[in-house]
Amino acid sequence: MSFAEALTSAAKKPGSKCGVGQALATFTGKDHDALVDAIDNCGPGKALGYSHLARALKAEGVSVADNGVGRHINGECSCGPR
Ligand SMILES: [Zn+2]
Repeated sequence: MSFAEALTSAAKKPGSKCGVGQALATFTGKDHDALVDAIDNCGPGKALGYSHLARALKAEGVSVADNGVGRHINGECSCGPR
């Protein structure tokens, strides 16, 4: 990547995102839809636990901890309030 390209791609990302936010920004098509659905259905009393979603993301190469998933879903992560 050239410096000019690096600057452009850095400018597209104001603030750093957590693993979940990065996955949301990079997944496309069916994977993105599945992730959005999973986030909707993830949490205490829902179909998916934070650890399930974290494990599925890790399988896709996204580095995120169980409590990182929880923080994202609760709007407490580096992505900021949703
Ligand atoms: Zn996040």
